[in-house]
Amino acid sequence: MLPDLEAAVRLHDIDGRIAVLQKEIAALPKHIAEIEKKLSSHERRLEIDRSALSANQKERKRLEGEIQLAEGKISKLRGQALEAKTNEHYRAFQNEIDYATKEIRGAEDRILELMTASEPLDANVKAAEAALKDERKQVDAEKGEAEKRVAGTRKTLDSLMAARRETIATMSPAVVTAYERIRKTRAGIAVSEALDGRCRQCHITLRPQFMQELKRGEKVMFCESCSRMLYWNPPKSVEALAGMNAVSAK
Ligand SMILES: [Zn+2]
Repeated sequence: MLPDLEAAVRLHDIDGRIAVLQKEIAALPKHIAEIEKKLSSHERRLEIDRSALSANQKERKRLEGEIQLAEGKISKLRGQALEAKTNEHYRAFQNEIDYATKEIRGAEDRILELMTASEPLDANVKAAEAALKDERKQVDAEKGEAEKRVAGTRKTLDSLMAARRETIATMSPAVVTAYERIRKTRAGIAVSEALDGRCRQCHITLRPQFMQELKRGEKVMFCESCSRMLYWNPPKSVEALAGMNAVSAK
């Protein structure tokens, strides 16, 4: 095979691997955003339970304050009732005392209701806090793992980039230019194998005369349909295949 074409095939292989790794690296922020989104939705749910619990506690405190006020009022009214000059006045004070007492009962009932409601809320908050702590730890570990993996991928990518530069350095500039131009317009694939008389990428049947010329390997040739650089691998000899098997069996 022509050295230029051989280098182009190598470049094609390197570029394929680079594309896979770049895709992997690009997927990382999305993956991290997904696991963090799940975490923050759980945090929001906990926040809702927490604020319901705190509203419950605030309301209980307010009712306790009301009870205290009503009790103070009652003891004052009792003193005033004792000093009442007429039965009518006395009854009026008594009515006010009854009213305040009723208010206290109502507040006490409401406090009991709130306490009953706060029990499952409190349990939910405690359970969610514990679960979130575990989840956060897991997310951090997963993020660390993913970042480590990507760091490894970046290193491999760097060495592939170096191999790419080295390969390009061995090629004639015209072939490199053609390679890059075709790669841009043909979905990142600039090289195709001529296999069984067809272009492996666009599947067009190659003219017999064209095939003959390609097999002679005197110049870089391009598919007449998809314009990719074509290469042809001569069938392996039995001896060569035996050698390959011996290598892969090791
Ligand atoms: Zn083609």
